[in-house]
This record gives sequence, C-alpha cells and structure tokens, in this order.
Amino acid sequence: AQHFLQRSQQHRHLGSFVAQDEAVTLTQAQAADARIADGTARPLDGLPLAHKDIFVTQDFPSTAASKMLAGYRSPFNATVVQKLADAGVVTLGKVSCDEFAMGSANENTAIAPLGFDAPAPVRNPWNTAHVPGGSSGGSAAAIAAGLAPAATGTDTGGSIRQPAAFCGITGIKPTYGRVSRHGMIAFASSLDQAGPMARTAEDCALLLTHMVGADPDRDSTSLERSAEDYSQNLNQGIEGLRIGIPKEFFGDGLADDVRHNVEAALKEYEKLGATLVPISLPLTELSIPVYYIIAPAEASSNLSRFDGVKFGFRAREYADLQDMYLKTRSEGFGEEVQRRIMIGTYVLSHGYYDAYYLKALKLRRLIANDFQNAFRECDLIAGPVAPTTAWQIGDDQRDPLTNYLADIFTLPASLAGLPGMSLPAGFGANGLPVGLQLIGNYFAEARLLNAAHRFQ
Ligand code: GLN
Repeated sequence: AQHFLQRSQQHRHLGSFVAQDEAVTLTQAQAADARIADGTARPLDGLPLAHKDIFVTQDFPSTAASKMLAGYRSPFNATVVQKLADAGVVTLGKVSCDEFAMGSANENTAIAPLGFDAPAPVRNPWNTAHVPGGSSGGSAAAIAAGLAPAATGTDTGGSIRQPAAFCGITGIKPTYGRVSRHGMIAFASSLDQAGPMARTAEDCALLLTHMVGADPDRDSTSLERSAEDYSQNLNQGIEGLRIGIPKEFFGDGLADDVRHNVEAALKEYEKLGATLVPISLPLTELSIPVYYIIAPAEASSNLSRFDGVKFGFRAREYADLQDMYLKTRSEGFGEEVQRRIMIGTYVLSHGYYDAYYLKALKLRRLIANDFQNAFRECDLIAGPVAPTTAWQIGDDQRDPLTNYLADIFTLPASLAGLPGMSLPAGFGANGLPVGLQLIGNYFAEARLLNAAHRFQ
C-alpha cells in the first residue's frame, strides 16, 4: 500500500486519483497485517485497490466526478465496497471517471484530480496526449501506470471494457444483476453493472469472486445465484471452444490496425484449440440509437434526485424554489449530463414515448434475441472493443455523436445484459493498446475468464 501511495503521488500528472487519505489506507493495511500475523487472514488481505468515484464510500468523498456532489460524504459504503473491504482489500483512494459515468474519454469531469487546481481529464499512461477511455478512465490509467494493482469500474455501455482496451489492461463486466448496484451512483439502472479491472484475467477472477452476490434488501435487480470461485477453473484447456465472430463487428468503420491485431489474436485462439465460427448479430448498428434513448431516459429519471434540497450542490443565489431548482441543476451538471437529461426527458414525454422509448425497448429485446440465436452456434463471441485506439485529448474533430458511434461494439452486450470483457491484444499504429472483446452468455463469467487467461 505504501508503494502504491508513493507511486501515485509521483504520477499526479496523469490525473487519475481524485481522493486519497494516507492515514485511512495505512490503518486498513495494518489491520490486514495484524490478521495475517494472528492467523485470521481474509482471502484478499492487504490487496491494495482503487475505487471508481461512482461508488459511495464512508472513508473518502464520493462525487461521480460531478460538481453536484463535490465534497459529498456518504453515510454508508456501496455493497461492492463493503464486500471487498470484508474480504480484506486496502483502499488506495478514489479514481476519476466521466461525470455520472457518461462518456468514453474521461474528458467530462468536473472534479479536480489530486495535484490539480481545476478539473482535468485523466491521461493515458502509454501516451499522455491521449485519452484513457471512459467512463472508468481513472481506474484503467491507474492500473496501466502501476499506481494500483486493481480497481473497481462500472459498465453501462462499455465503461469497463473500453478504457481497459485503451490502456492495455483487463476488465470484465459481469452479467447484469450478478453484482449489487447498491451504492453505485445511478446512471441507467437497467444497464449499470460493476466489475473488476486489473492487469490480468487471473487478478480479475480473484476480485470478481468477492464482488458478486445477491443483495435482496438493497438491490432488487441483483440475482440469487450460488457463490462461485472464478479462480478455480482458470487453467482449463479451451480445445473445442467455439468462438463466434460476428461479421457486423468487422465492417467498414473498424480501423485497419485494430482489425489486424484482433485477427491476430483470433489466430492465437485457433492455435490454442478453439474453433472460429462465423456468426451474425444483425441489429448491431441499431444498438447505438437504442442505447442512446434508453440510457438517457433512465438517467433523466435517476438524476432528478439532484434538486439542491436533500444533498449535494445548491446554487448560491435564487429568487424562489423554481429558480433554485433551475440554477442548481444548470450550474451543478456538466454539459454532457445536461444533454442527456434533455434527450431523456424528451423521449419519455407524452407524444414521443411510444415513438422513441417504447420502440427502443422492443429493439432491445430483439438485440438480446439475436445473441441467443448466435449462442446456439458458439460458446463465446469475440471481436474488437472499440473501432480505434485511444484518440487525442481535446480532439476538436470529435463531437458527442462521434463518441456515441464509437460505442458500437460494447453496446450490444450491455443492452442484452450479457457479460463481456476486454483483454490486451497488441498495439495499434500510434503505439497505443488494442483490446480484444469476449462476450459470453448469461453467467458465463468463468468461461470468459478462463478463455482470457489461456490467451494471457
Ligand atoms: N460511453 C457510453 C456512454 O457514454 C458508456 C458509458 C458507461 O458505460 N458508463 O454512455
């Protein structure tokens, strides 16, 4: 823990950490040491880990990278935070993310990282002029730079997988409902899911084992399912594993260098004994409009709690209650968050609900059905995580729509609630990492981790 604290202090320029407290971290580490010494060690005792600042924590502020929650302290720990603490992890602090997890580049942040006076984007450790991906960009950058051996992340439409790919690390988004969402500051509740990020599938397996589990009193969408030790079957062979290759994931929009690396990784899988099966996920392209209707719709509802009354930011000056709401929300939410509240409110409004929201829900079902058809022919699905490697910070050629379109390969599994992961698969033309995505059927986390581990 001391090593990682010191190293993160030496790498403040990356903008990864938003909160640290040496006394808290070292107290936790000493408690772990004491348990190890007296023979009452817990499974993850002494393992240092950083939490995405979307999880609420008692020991550190919890901001979701929003001015709305600047300095906010939660009276309780998120279930994931508590479960990992109970297993013995030592918290290195909180890491940056996109505001309310909305973004793909960690550029939408309203909180100043440690070492900065003003909000600043996280930098990709492989090339600090480039983004680390998002929204779990602080987690991915911290791991890639060796500031933390592991971190938590959340994935609504790709936020674990895409930053893992951009920073050359490994991350897994479990099946929707496998991990409790209690204490995860909500973005889009029917899609949000927490998962581990680390260097390897082996490390992710170790962490995930201690993150999963039903939380019936606190998250009614968490699923009852027996405990699983994901480390147990990592070394199984993958001979005969059928890997589906969706043709829609290899179309025109895919950059040549990403295609090249992903195809090379698939060849490796063949050498390891897997069989590649051509498949089709015909509605892949529609996952973008479907997601960018459903996610903002849910976000507009979730974010209505930030009204300046109960907690968080409140505008300094206002005329009356209505004006207080207006000024608080206009000043407290960043541009991307406001854009999504507007889209979400619009698609849910009377007269547009049927045309947009209801239609998107129907398509979501069809997208999930396509996966079930595909899984009749294959055991896992593989493809790229993102169409390109990490782009430059502040690239003025990119607008919100460009970023939305770049989510094309991660959104389908999110909409279907399927587990997906990203693992390093070489480097692109600009020297930045390329990720390979593996998607499994419901609860196939063990199979995903096994397949990733064999490759690593
Ligand atoms: N990039 C996607 C978005 O901006 C996904 C974000 C996420 O998974 N939290 O919504």
